[in-house]
Amino acid sequence: MKPYDAVVAGGGLIGASIAFELAAEGLRVAVFDAQNPGREASWASAGMISPAPESSEMASLLPISLASVRLYPEFIRRVEDLTGRSVGYRKDGALDLLLDETGQAEIDEILALHRGAGLRAEALSGPEARRIEPALTSELRAAVHRPDEASLDNRLFTEATLEAARRKGVEIFAGNGSEALWTDGDVCKGLELQSGRVEARWTVIAAGCFSARIKGVAAYAPVTPAKGQMMALRCDSVNLKKDLWLGHMYLVPRNDGRIIAGSTVEYEGFDRSVTVAGMKRILSGATKLVPALESARIEETWAGLRPDSPDHLPILGPTDLDGLLIATGHFRSGILLTPVTARLIREWVTTQKVSEDWAPFSPMRFQRVRQSRGA
Ligand SMILES: Cc1cc2nc3c(=O)[nH]c(=O)nc-3n(C[C@H](O)[C@H](O)[C@H](O)COP(=O)(O)OP(=O)(O)OC[C@H]3O[C@@H](n4cnc5c(N)ncnc54)[C@H](O)[C@@H]3O)c2cc1C
Repeated sequence: MKPYDAVVAGGGLIGASIAFELAAEGLRVAVFDAQNPGREASWASAGMISPAPESSEMASLLPISLASVRLYPEFIRRVEDLTGRSVGYRKDGALDLLLDETGQAEIDEILALHRGAGLRAEALSGPEARRIEPALTSELRAAVHRPDEASLDNRLFTEATLEAARRKGVEIFAGNGSEALWTDGDVCKGLELQSGRVEARWTVIAAGCFSARIKGVAAYAPVTPAKGQMMALRCDSVNLKKDLWLGHMYLVPRNDGRIIAGSTVEYEGFDRSVTVAGMKRILSGATKLVPALESARIEETWAGLRPDSPDHLPILGPTDLDGLLIATGHFRSGILLTPVTARLIREWVTTQKVSEDWAPFSPMRFQRVRQSRGA
């Protein structure tokens, strides 16, 4: 196989967006996927672009999350202009909902977390929230409104980004997964594929939760799959505007009238089955928030595998193998972090400098942990 400037293992949204950015700089790029690209986590996702930190432990994610939010409109414009496809972007905000009486401390905590992060957030009473979203339950006690949150149709976006990459000259190979890194001493020369070797100056691992299965990668990207179950509902009497959150449960309206309801976080290996327990949990949250959804039609159910890392943070950047870059471990934030991930990898490949501090996400952090344990 001919050599490339960059080869990417994995054609999910992360691999596709990196390939697109690199090809836009004039590099010869190929993407190799084990199956049809774009059919894993990026397809299964809810598509929310939500930089709000879930807890103070995730605060280190905030700077790159905010950078990604800033990059999003322009990234989408480029993809949509090049392909003529819409990706279903909506910037209508989100409501964090509280149903019980003991919510005030929780509201204060959510407000403090958001405002500390420089994000707009306002407390609403139950009736105020219901004026914005009339379908919400009358049991609602209070809500936090995050007006700047957005979402998109991740399936349309992933397809469009793959197409945009193709139009920029990226060669995309389906059914030709990467089995191992091709190394020579401390240089990564490319990938060992199902079909043989491919050589490149830069090798990018973006195979989502499957990355650690590629021989030689686990030391840099010890990712595991975190299953999330989902369903798509349609209900003629419910017209939601905003993304709605109740704890970890959410409802995300799409432009085509579907309401995406999710999700679970389960560590069951690579199992993608949809279970009664998972569906029950999602439906119970959904109907508690919006009682009229009792009459909704269930259009589809599915499950996807998020790429989780030991500290739940993404794994981004160069390694101690010359030419090897990692871009995975985005866990619950891979859609949010797509534009910034693609930008940072492109900056490193073209200038060996990056515009955001990505040291906290270095693939070398797992090796340091092992060394300090004497392992
Ligand atoms: C239920 C659910 C809801 C989510 N909701 C959100 C959300 O609202 N907002 C958000 O920001 N994030 C969300 N996420 C997370 C987000 O979807 C992921 O972080 C993101 O899609 C990861 O993209 P990826 O390209 O790294 O991985 P994937 O999309 O999984 O792509 C990996 C690709 O690698 C390929 N591959 C596998 N093995 C190999 C190999 N050996 N060689 C080559 N290729 C290989 C696969 O076939 C696949 O195409 C959600 C995820 C799930 C599952």
